[in-house]
Amino acid sequence: MFADIFEAHNKLKKKEISSAELTAECLKNLGANKNNSFISITSELALESAKKVDQEISKSGVSSYLHGIPYSLKDLFITKNIRTTAGSKMLHNYIPPYEGYVAKMLKKAGGVLVGKTGCDEFGMGSSNDNTAYGPVTNPLDPNYVPGGSSGGSAISVLEKSSYFSMGTDTGGSVRLPANFCGLVGFKPSYGRISRYGQIAYGSSLDQAAPFGNSVLDMAIILDQLTENDPNDSTQAPLGNTKSTEYILKNEKASLKGFKVGYYPEFIENCREDVQKNLKESLEKLRSLGAELVEVELPHSKYSVAVYYIIATSEASSNLARFDGIHYGYSAKNQTGLEQVYVASRSEGFCDEVKRRILLGTFCLSSGYSDEYFNHACKVRRLIRTDFDKAYEKCDFVFSPVCATTSFRRDEDLTPLQMYMTDLYTIPVNLAGLPSIAIPNGTSSQNKMPTGFQLIGKAFDDERLLSFAHNFMKGVKS
Ligand code: GLN
Repeated sequence: MFADIFEAHNKLKKKEISSAELTAECLKNLGANKNNSFISITSELALESAKKVDQEISKSGVSSYLHGIPYSLKDLFITKNIRTTAGSKMLHNYIPPYEGYVAKMLKKAGGVLVGKTGCDEFGMGSSNDNTAYGPVTNPLDPNYVPGGSSGGSAISVLEKSSYFSMGTDTGGSVRLPANFCGLVGFKPSYGRISRYGQIAYGSSLDQAAPFGNSVLDMAIILDQLTENDPNDSTQAPLGNTKSTEYILKNEKASLKGFKVGYYPEFIENCREDVQKNLKESLEKLRSLGAELVEVELPHSKYSVAVYYIIATSEASSNLARFDGIHYGYSAKNQTGLEQVYVASRSEGFCDEVKRRILLGTFCLSSGYSDEYFNHACKVRRLIRTDFDKAYEKCDFVFSPVCATTSFRRDEDLTPLQMYMTDLYTIPVNLAGLPSIAIPNGTSSQNKMPTGFQLIGKAFDDERLLSFAHNFMKGVKS
Protein backbone atom coordinates (compact mmCIF):
# COMPACT_ATOMS: atom_id res chain seq x y z
CA MET A 1 0.00 0.00 0.00
CA PHE A 2 1.43 3.38 -0.98
CA ALA A 3 1.37 6.39 1.33
CA ASP A 4 -1.30 8.29 -0.56
CA ILE A 5 -3.10 8.77 -3.89
CA PHE A 6 -0.27 10.90 -5.24
CA GLU A 7 2.30 8.13 -4.70
CA ALA A 8 0.02 5.37 -6.03
CA HIS A 9 -0.75 7.54 -9.07
CA ASN A 10 2.95 7.94 -9.84
CA LYS A 11 3.42 4.17 -9.70
CA LEU A 12 0.44 3.64 -12.02
CA LYS A 13 1.78 6.28 -14.36
CA LYS A 14 5.17 4.57 -14.55
CA LYS A 15 3.35 1.23 -14.97
CA GLU A 16 5.16 -0.13 -11.90
CA ILE A 17 1.85 -1.38 -10.53
CA SER A 18 -1.59 -2.05 -11.97
CA SER A 19 -4.98 -0.90 -10.76
CA ALA A 20 -5.97 -4.57 -10.44
CA GLU A 21 -3.09 -5.07 -7.99
CA LEU A 22 -4.01 -1.97 -5.99
CA THR A 23 -7.65 -3.08 -5.88
CA ALA A 24 -6.82 -6.65 -4.87
CA GLU A 25 -4.68 -5.32 -2.03
CA CYS A 26 -7.48 -3.05 -0.79
CA LEU A 27 -9.96 -5.93 -0.89
CA LYS A 28 -7.49 -8.09 1.00
CA ASN A 29 -7.13 -5.42 3.68
CA LEU A 30 -10.91 -5.25 3.93
CA GLY A 31 -11.00 -8.99 4.56
CA ALA A 32 -14.41 -10.19 5.64
CA ASN A 33 -15.39 -6.62 6.58
CA LYS A 34 -13.74 -7.12 9.96
CA ASN A 35 -14.40 -3.57 11.19
CA ASN A 36 -17.90 -3.45 9.68
CA SER A 37 -16.75 -0.35 7.80
CA PHE A 38 -18.83 -1.26 4.73
CA ILE A 39 -22.56 -1.76 4.27
CA SER A 40 -22.15 -3.00 0.70
CA ILE A 41 -18.95 -4.32 -0.85
CA THR A 42 -18.72 -4.18 -4.64
CA SER A 43 -15.67 -6.40 -5.06
CA GLU A 44 -16.67 -8.00 -8.36
CA LEU A 45 -17.49 -4.67 -9.90
CA ALA A 46 -14.25 -3.22 -8.52
CA LEU A 47 -12.06 -5.95 -9.98
CA GLU A 48 -13.87 -5.64 -13.30
CA SER A 49 -13.44 -1.87 -13.50
CA ALA A 50 -9.79 -2.13 -12.38
CA LYS A 51 -9.19 -4.50 -15.29
CA LYS A 52 -10.86 -2.07 -17.68
CA VAL A 53 -8.81 0.82 -16.29
CA ASP A 54 -5.59 -1.18 -16.73
CA GLN A 55 -6.43 -1.67 -20.40
CA GLU A 56 -7.02 2.09 -20.76
CA ILE A 57 -3.73 2.86 -19.01
CA SER A 58 -1.71 0.41 -21.08
CA LYS A 59 -3.22 1.94 -24.24
CA SER A 60 -3.07 5.66 -23.52
CA GLY A 61 -1.55 6.20 -20.07
CA VAL A 62 -3.22 7.58 -16.94
CA SER A 63 -5.76 10.28 -17.67
CA SER A 64 -6.21 11.73 -14.17
CA TYR A 65 -4.77 11.49 -10.67
CA LEU A 66 -7.64 9.20 -9.69
CA HIS A 67 -7.40 6.88 -12.69
CA GLY A 68 -7.14 3.37 -11.25
CA ILE A 69 -7.32 4.43 -7.57
CA PRO A 70 -9.57 2.32 -5.28
CA TYR A 71 -11.95 4.37 -3.11
CA SER A 72 -15.17 4.11 -1.15
CA LEU A 73 -18.32 6.19 -0.74
CA LYS A 74 -20.39 6.83 2.36
CA ASP A 75 -23.70 5.06 1.86
CA LEU A 76 -25.37 8.45 1.62
CA PHE A 77 -24.19 8.97 -1.96
CA ILE A 78 -26.54 7.75 -4.64
CA THR A 79 -24.95 5.10 -6.85
CA LYS A 80 -26.80 3.82 -9.89
CA ASN A 81 -27.80 0.17 -9.53
CA ILE A 82 -25.89 -0.15 -6.24
CA ARG A 83 -27.91 -0.32 -3.03
CA THR A 84 -27.86 2.98 -1.14
CA THR A 85 -29.22 2.79 2.42
CA ALA A 86 -28.20 6.03 4.20
CA GLY A 87 -27.43 3.65 7.10
CA SER A 88 -31.18 3.25 7.66
CA LYS A 89 -33.68 0.43 7.62
CA MET A 90 -35.89 2.92 5.76
CA LEU A 91 -33.76 2.44 2.60
CA HIS A 92 -32.64 -1.16 3.20
CA ASN A 93 -33.76 -2.19 -0.29
CA TYR A 94 -33.28 1.03 -2.24
CA ILE A 95 -31.43 0.60 -5.54
CA PRO A 96 -31.13 4.03 -7.15
CA PRO A 97 -32.05 4.31 -10.83
CA TYR A 98 -29.62 7.21 -11.39
CA GLU A 99 -26.04 8.24 -10.64
CA GLY A 100 -25.38 11.08 -8.20
CA TYR A 101 -22.83 13.80 -8.99
CA VAL A 102 -20.00 12.53 -6.76
CA ALA A 103 -20.28 8.92 -7.98
CA LYS A 104 -20.51 10.12 -11.58
CA MET A 105 -17.46 12.38 -11.38
CA LEU A 106 -15.28 9.81 -9.60
CA LYS A 107 -16.28 7.18 -12.15
CA LYS A 108 -15.47 9.62 -14.95
CA ALA A 109 -12.02 10.16 -13.41
CA GLY A 110 -11.43 6.40 -13.55
CA GLY A 111 -11.64 5.71 -9.80
CA VAL A 112 -12.41 2.14 -8.70
CA LEU A 113 -15.32 1.87 -6.25
CA VAL A 114 -14.71 -0.74 -3.55
CA GLY A 115 -18.07 -0.25 -1.84
CA LYS A 116 -20.42 1.83 0.28
CA THR A 117 -19.43 2.62 3.84
CA GLY A 118 -21.28 2.52 7.15
CA CYS A 119 -22.62 5.69 8.71
CA ASP A 120 -25.08 7.09 11.21
CA GLU A 121 -28.57 7.12 9.72
CA PHE A 122 -28.98 10.01 7.29
CA GLY A 123 -25.73 11.44 8.70
CA MET A 124 -27.18 12.02 12.16
CA GLY A 125 -24.66 11.18 14.85
CA SER A 126 -21.10 11.47 16.11
CA SER A 127 -20.24 7.89 17.04
CA ASN A 128 -21.61 5.64 14.30
CA ASP A 129 -23.99 3.93 16.71
CA ASN A 130 -27.20 5.24 15.10
CA THR A 131 -27.23 2.67 12.34
CA ALA A 132 -29.35 -0.22 11.20
CA TYR A 133 -26.22 -2.09 9.97
CA GLY A 134 -24.22 -2.33 13.21
CA PRO A 135 -21.62 0.07 14.58
CA VAL A 136 -18.24 0.48 12.87
CA THR A 137 -15.23 -0.67 14.91
CA ASN A 138 -12.19 1.53 15.42
CA PRO A 139 -9.17 -0.75 14.84
CA LEU A 140 -6.92 1.61 16.83
CA ASP A 141 -8.84 0.43 19.91
CA PRO A 142 -12.18 -1.36 19.57
CA ASN A 143 -13.37 0.16 22.86
CA TYR A 144 -13.33 3.61 21.27
CA VAL A 145 -15.77 4.92 18.65
CA PRO A 146 -14.48 5.80 15.17
CA GLY A 147 -16.50 9.05 15.23
CA GLY A 148 -19.50 9.84 13.10
CA SER A 149 -21.43 10.14 11.08
CA SER A 150 -18.97 9.14 8.32
CA GLY A 151 -17.18 6.58 10.54
CA GLY A 152 -17.14 3.76 7.99
CA SER A 153 -15.42 6.03 5.47
CA ALA A 154 -12.74 6.98 8.00
CA ILE A 155 -12.12 3.35 8.90
CA SER A 156 -11.97 2.29 5.26
CA VAL A 157 -8.98 4.62 4.85
CA LEU A 158 -7.45 3.61 8.18
CA GLU A 159 -7.73 -0.13 7.51
CA LYS A 160 -6.37 0.55 3.99
CA SER A 161 -9.29 -0.88 2.09
CA SER A 162 -9.53 2.46 0.21
CA TYR A 163 -7.03 5.11 -0.79
CA PHE A 164 -9.66 7.72 -0.06
CA SER A 165 -13.28 7.86 0.90
CA MET A 166 -16.01 10.42 0.40
CA GLY A 167 -18.05 11.32 3.45
CA THR A 168 -20.47 14.14 4.11
CA ASP A 169 -19.96 17.00 6.56
CA THR A 170 -23.13 18.76 7.73
CA GLY A 171 -21.86 19.62 11.20
CA GLY A 172 -18.47 17.90 11.35
CA SER A 173 -19.13 14.35 10.19
CA VAL A 174 -15.87 14.16 8.26
CA ARG A 175 -13.60 16.30 10.44
CA LEU A 176 -14.65 14.55 13.66
CA PRO A 177 -13.95 10.95 12.53
CA ALA A 178 -10.77 12.13 10.77
CA ASN A 179 -9.71 13.60 14.11
CA PHE A 180 -10.67 10.49 16.07
CA CYS A 181 -8.77 8.24 13.63
CA GLY A 182 -5.63 10.29 12.90
CA LEU A 183 -6.54 11.02 9.26
CA VAL A 184 -6.81 14.11 7.08
CA GLY A 185 -10.39 15.26 6.45
CA PHE A 186 -11.42 18.26 4.38
CA LYS A 187 -14.74 20.07 4.27
CA PRO A 188 -14.79 22.33 1.21
CA SER A 189 -16.66 25.66 1.18
CA TYR A 190 -20.43 25.19 1.10
CA GLY A 191 -21.51 25.10 -2.53
CA ARG A 192 -18.16 23.89 -3.87
CA ILE A 193 -19.30 20.35 -4.66
CA SER A 194 -22.73 19.64 -6.11
CA ARG A 195 -25.14 17.97 -3.68
CA TYR A 196 -27.06 16.22 -6.47
CA GLY A 197 -27.41 12.61 -5.43
CA GLN A 198 -26.27 13.18 -1.85
CA ILE A 199 -29.16 12.12 0.38
CA ALA A 200 -30.24 15.34 2.05
CA TYR A 201 -29.99 15.98 5.78
CA GLY A 202 -29.62 19.75 6.34
CA SER A 203 -29.50 21.22 2.85
CA SER A 204 -28.02 24.60 3.80
CA LEU A 205 -25.16 22.81 5.62
CA ASP A 206 -24.52 19.53 3.76
CA GLN A 207 -21.25 19.23 1.86
CA ALA A 208 -19.47 16.24 0.35
CA ALA A 209 -16.05 15.94 1.97
CA PRO A 210 -13.10 13.56 1.50
CA PHE A 211 -10.92 11.54 3.91
CA GLY A 212 -7.37 10.60 3.02
CA ASN A 213 -3.78 10.29 4.10
CA SER A 214 -2.38 13.61 2.86
CA VAL A 215 -3.40 17.20 2.23
CA LEU A 216 -2.36 16.90 -1.41
CA ASP A 217 -4.89 14.07 -1.82
CA MET A 218 -7.64 16.42 -0.64
CA ALA A 219 -6.76 18.80 -3.47
CA ILE A 220 -6.66 15.98 -6.02
CA ILE A 221 -10.19 14.93 -5.04
CA LEU A 222 -11.51 18.49 -4.90
CA ASP A 223 -10.27 19.12 -8.42
CA GLN A 224 -12.27 16.15 -9.70
CA LEU A 225 -15.47 17.30 -8.02
CA THR A 226 -15.80 20.95 -8.89
CA GLU A 227 -17.12 20.77 -12.42
CA ASN A 228 -20.31 22.82 -12.61
CA ASP A 229 -23.49 20.81 -12.24
CA PRO A 230 -26.78 22.17 -13.56
CA ASN A 231 -28.58 19.81 -11.16
CA ASP A 232 -27.60 21.81 -8.07
CA SER A 233 -28.54 25.48 -8.13
CA THR A 234 -26.64 26.11 -4.88
CA GLN A 235 -23.33 25.02 -6.35
CA ALA A 236 -21.04 28.02 -6.82
CA PRO A 237 -20.01 28.53 -10.46
CA LEU A 238 -16.30 27.99 -9.89
CA GLY A 239 -15.77 24.91 -12.02
CA ASN A 240 -12.52 23.21 -12.99
CA THR A 241 -10.24 24.25 -10.19
CA LYS A 242 -6.60 23.30 -10.22
CA SER A 243 -5.79 23.12 -6.52
CA THR A 244 -3.28 20.33 -7.06
CA GLU A 245 -1.19 22.40 -9.48
CA TYR A 246 -1.52 25.41 -7.17
CA ILE A 247 -0.17 23.41 -4.24
CA LEU A 248 2.70 21.88 -6.18
CA LYS A 249 3.65 25.30 -7.58
CA ASN A 250 3.65 26.91 -4.14
CA GLU A 251 5.36 24.07 -2.33
CA LYS A 252 7.82 25.28 0.32
CA ALA A 253 8.66 24.43 3.90
CA SER A 254 8.07 27.90 5.29
CA LEU A 255 4.88 29.66 6.30
CA LYS A 256 6.35 33.17 6.26
CA GLY A 257 3.93 35.92 5.32
CA PHE A 258 0.80 34.15 6.64
CA LYS A 259 -1.21 35.11 9.68
CA VAL A 260 -3.02 32.46 11.68
CA GLY A 261 -5.78 33.53 14.05
CA TYR A 262 -6.78 31.58 17.14
CA TYR A 263 -9.48 32.13 19.74
CA PRO A 264 -7.84 31.38 23.12
CA GLU A 265 -11.17 30.39 24.74
CA PHE A 266 -11.57 27.51 22.26
CA ILE A 267 -8.23 26.06 23.26
CA GLU A 268 -8.60 26.62 27.00
CA ASN A 269 -11.90 24.72 27.01
CA CYS A 270 -10.33 21.53 25.65
CA ARG A 271 -9.28 18.57 27.77
CA GLU A 272 -5.71 18.81 29.04
CA ASP A 273 -4.20 16.18 26.71
CA VAL A 274 -5.82 17.74 23.63
CA GLN A 275 -4.87 21.22 24.78
CA LYS A 276 -1.21 20.25 25.13
CA ASN A 277 -1.03 19.02 21.53
CA LEU A 278 -2.94 22.06 20.24
CA LYS A 279 -0.40 24.37 21.88
CA GLU A 280 2.44 22.37 20.35
CA SER A 281 0.87 22.76 16.89
CA LEU A 282 0.52 26.50 17.38
CA GLU A 283 4.19 26.60 18.32
CA LYS A 284 5.08 24.62 15.18
CA LEU A 285 3.11 27.07 13.06
CA ARG A 286 5.04 29.90 14.65
CA SER A 287 8.41 28.21 14.25
CA LEU A 288 7.68 27.60 10.56
CA GLY A 289 7.22 31.33 10.06
CA ALA A 290 3.48 31.96 10.49
CA GLU A 291 2.47 34.92 12.60
CA LEU A 292 -0.07 34.06 15.32
CA VAL A 293 -2.79 36.56 16.16
CA GLU A 294 -5.65 36.39 18.66
CA VAL A 295 -9.15 36.65 17.22
CA GLU A 296 -12.60 36.54 18.76
CA LEU A 297 -15.46 34.24 17.84
CA PRO A 298 -17.87 35.14 20.65
CA HIS A 299 -21.07 33.90 18.99
CA SER A 300 -19.69 30.41 18.35
CA LYS A 301 -20.85 29.38 21.81
CA TYR A 302 -24.41 29.44 20.45
CA SER A 303 -23.56 27.28 17.48
CA VAL A 304 -24.73 23.93 18.89
CA ALA A 305 -28.14 25.42 19.78
CA VAL A 306 -28.42 27.16 16.40
CA TYR A 307 -27.32 24.08 14.47
CA TYR A 308 -29.73 21.70 16.20
CA ILE A 309 -32.60 24.04 15.28
CA ILE A 310 -31.57 24.65 11.67
CA ALA A 311 -30.34 21.13 10.85
CA THR A 312 -33.34 19.40 12.43
CA SER A 313 -35.79 21.82 10.79
CA GLU A 314 -34.29 21.13 7.38
CA ALA A 315 -34.17 17.40 8.15
CA SER A 316 -37.84 17.32 9.14
CA SER A 317 -38.68 18.69 5.71
CA ASN A 318 -36.12 16.61 3.75
CA LEU A 319 -37.13 13.34 5.39
CA ALA A 320 -40.84 13.88 4.72
CA ARG A 321 -40.32 12.06 1.41
CA PHE A 322 -39.80 8.74 3.22
CA ASP A 323 -43.46 7.84 3.48
CA GLY A 324 -43.38 4.10 2.94
CA ILE A 325 -44.62 4.51 -0.62
CA HIS A 326 -42.09 6.38 -2.72
CA TYR A 327 -38.92 4.74 -1.43
CA GLY A 328 -37.66 1.81 0.56
CA TYR A 329 -39.30 0.35 3.63
CA SER A 330 -43.05 -0.07 3.69
CA ALA A 331 -44.82 -1.48 6.75
CA LYS A 332 -46.91 -4.57 6.00
CA ASN A 333 -50.56 -5.24 6.78
CA GLN A 334 -51.71 -1.63 7.12
CA THR A 335 -55.32 -0.75 6.45
CA GLY A 336 -55.15 2.85 5.25
CA LEU A 337 -52.83 5.48 3.80
CA GLU A 338 -52.17 7.26 7.05
CA GLN A 339 -51.42 3.96 8.78
CA VAL A 340 -48.86 3.16 6.06
CA TYR A 341 -47.15 6.52 6.68
CA VAL A 342 -47.15 6.17 10.45
CA ALA A 343 -46.11 2.52 10.65
CA SER A 344 -43.42 2.80 7.95
CA ARG A 345 -41.83 5.87 9.54
CA SER A 346 -42.13 4.46 13.07
CA GLU A 347 -40.48 1.19 12.08
CA GLY A 348 -38.10 2.50 9.40
CA PHE A 349 -36.33 5.30 11.29
CA CYS A 350 -34.16 4.86 14.40
CA ASP A 351 -34.86 6.80 17.60
CA GLU A 352 -32.30 9.53 16.87
CA VAL A 353 -33.80 10.28 13.46
CA LYS A 354 -37.28 10.40 14.98
CA ARG A 355 -36.04 12.70 17.78
CA ARG A 356 -34.69 15.11 15.18
CA ILE A 357 -37.80 15.03 12.99
CA LEU A 358 -39.89 15.85 16.06
CA LEU A 359 -37.56 18.67 17.11
CA GLY A 360 -37.41 20.13 13.61
CA THR A 361 -41.17 19.90 13.08
CA PHE A 362 -41.69 21.71 16.37
CA CYS A 363 -39.19 24.47 15.48
CA LEU A 364 -40.96 25.08 12.17
CA SER A 365 -44.52 24.87 13.48
CA SER A 366 -46.67 27.96 13.19
CA GLY A 367 -46.38 30.15 16.26
CA TYR A 368 -42.88 28.83 17.01
CA SER A 369 -40.95 29.33 13.79
CA ASP A 370 -40.20 33.00 14.58
CA GLU A 371 -39.02 32.18 18.05
CA TYR A 372 -36.84 29.23 17.00
CA PHE A 373 -36.05 28.87 13.30
CA ASN A 374 -35.95 32.54 12.31
CA HIS A 375 -34.10 33.47 15.46
CA ALA A 376 -31.52 30.73 14.82
CA CYS A 377 -30.97 32.06 11.29
CA LYS A 378 -30.18 35.50 12.73
CA VAL A 379 -27.62 34.09 15.18
CA ARG A 380 -26.16 32.05 12.31
CA ARG A 381 -25.46 35.36 10.55
CA LEU A 382 -23.66 36.66 13.67
CA ILE A 383 -21.47 33.54 13.73
CA ARG A 384 -20.47 34.19 10.12
CA THR A 385 -19.85 37.88 10.86
CA ASP A 386 -17.43 36.89 13.65
CA PHE A 387 -15.41 34.94 11.09
CA ASP A 388 -15.53 37.82 8.59
CA LYS A 389 -14.11 40.10 11.28
CA ALA A 390 -11.44 37.56 12.21
CA TYR A 391 -10.30 37.38 8.59
CA GLU A 392 -9.62 41.12 8.64
CA LYS A 393 -6.73 40.16 10.96
CA CYS A 394 -5.61 36.78 9.63
CA ASP A 395 -5.55 34.38 6.66
CA PHE A 396 -6.71 31.22 8.45
CA VAL A 397 -8.27 30.36 11.79
CA PHE A 398 -6.73 27.59 13.92
CA SER A 399 -9.23 25.67 16.05
CA PRO A 400 -9.68 22.38 17.89
CA VAL A 401 -11.82 19.79 16.10
CA CYS A 402 -13.10 18.36 19.35
CA ALA A 403 -12.42 19.10 23.03
CA THR A 404 -11.59 15.44 23.62
CA THR A 405 -10.20 12.48 21.72
CA SER A 406 -12.48 9.66 20.62
CA PHE A 407 -14.57 8.44 23.54
CA ARG A 408 -15.27 4.92 24.74
CA ARG A 409 -18.37 3.28 23.36
CA ASP A 410 -19.39 2.18 26.86
CA GLU A 411 -19.41 5.81 28.06
CA ASP A 412 -22.94 5.86 26.66
CA LEU A 413 -23.19 9.61 26.11
CA THR A 414 -26.65 11.20 26.32
CA PRO A 415 -27.93 12.82 23.10
CA LEU A 416 -27.03 16.26 24.47
CA GLN A 417 -23.47 15.21 25.41
CA MET A 418 -23.15 13.74 21.93
CA TYR A 419 -24.32 17.02 20.35
CA MET A 420 -21.61 18.88 22.29
CA THR A 421 -18.84 16.95 20.48
CA ASP A 422 -19.70 19.16 17.49
CA LEU A 423 -19.04 22.44 19.27
CA TYR A 424 -15.97 23.36 17.20
CA THR A 425 -16.94 21.84 13.87
CA ILE A 426 -20.47 23.26 13.59
CA PRO A 427 -19.57 27.00 13.41
CA VAL A 428 -17.70 26.23 10.17
CA ASN A 429 -20.79 24.65 8.54
CA LEU A 430 -23.05 27.44 9.76
CA ALA A 431 -20.67 29.96 8.18
CA GLY A 432 -20.21 27.89 4.97
CA LEU A 433 -16.40 27.92 5.22
CA PRO A 434 -13.72 25.43 4.10
CA SER A 435 -11.84 23.62 6.85
CA ILE A 436 -9.20 20.93 6.98
CA ALA A 437 -8.71 18.56 9.94
CA ILE A 438 -5.08 17.60 10.44
CA PRO A 439 -3.70 15.00 12.87
CA ASN A 440 -1.11 16.26 15.36
CA GLY A 441 -0.16 13.26 17.50
CA THR A 442 -1.71 11.14 20.20
CA SER A 443 -3.14 11.79 23.63
CA SER A 444 -0.92 11.36 26.67
CA GLN A 445 -4.02 10.00 28.49
CA ASN A 446 -5.34 7.26 26.22
CA LYS A 447 -2.98 7.14 23.19
CA MET A 448 -5.85 7.96 20.82
CA PRO A 449 -5.19 10.43 17.95
CA THR A 450 -5.52 14.19 18.37
CA GLY A 451 -5.61 16.98 15.80
CA PHE A 452 -6.71 20.48 14.90
CA GLN A 453 -8.49 22.24 12.07
CA LEU A 454 -7.49 25.16 9.90
CA ILE A 455 -10.47 27.17 8.67
CA GLY A 456 -10.29 29.34 5.56
CA LYS A 457 -12.32 32.18 4.09
CA ALA A 458 -15.26 31.15 1.92
CA PHE A 459 -14.00 29.84 -1.43
CA ASP A 460 -10.36 30.23 -0.40
CA ASP A 461 -10.02 26.43 -0.49
CA GLU A 462 -6.87 26.37 -2.65
CA ARG A 463 -4.85 28.69 -0.46
CA LEU A 464 -6.02 26.82 2.65
CA LEU A 465 -4.94 23.47 1.22
CA SER A 466 -1.63 24.89 0.05
CA PHE A 467 -0.90 26.35 3.50
CA ALA A 468 -1.85 23.08 5.23
CA HIS A 469 0.32 21.12 2.80
CA ASN A 470 3.32 23.34 3.48
CA PHE A 471 2.71 23.03 7.23
CA MET A 472 2.80 19.23 6.96
CA LYS A 473 5.95 19.36 4.84
CA GLY A 474 7.64 21.64 7.33
CA VAL A 475 6.68 19.38 10.21
CA LYS A 476 7.96 16.27 8.49
CA SER A 477 11.27 17.70 7.31
N1 GLN B 1 -22.83 15.08 14.58
C1 GLN B 1 -23.57 16.02 13.78
C2 GLN B 1 -25.02 15.61 13.71
O1 GLN B 1 -25.33 14.58 14.24
C3 GLN B 1 -22.94 16.15 12.45
C4 GLN B 1 -23.56 15.40 11.36
C5 GLN B 1 -22.93 15.54 10.01
O2 GLN B 1 -22.00 16.30 9.79
N2 GLN B 1 -23.51 14.81 9.07
O3 GLN B 1 -25.84 16.30 13.17
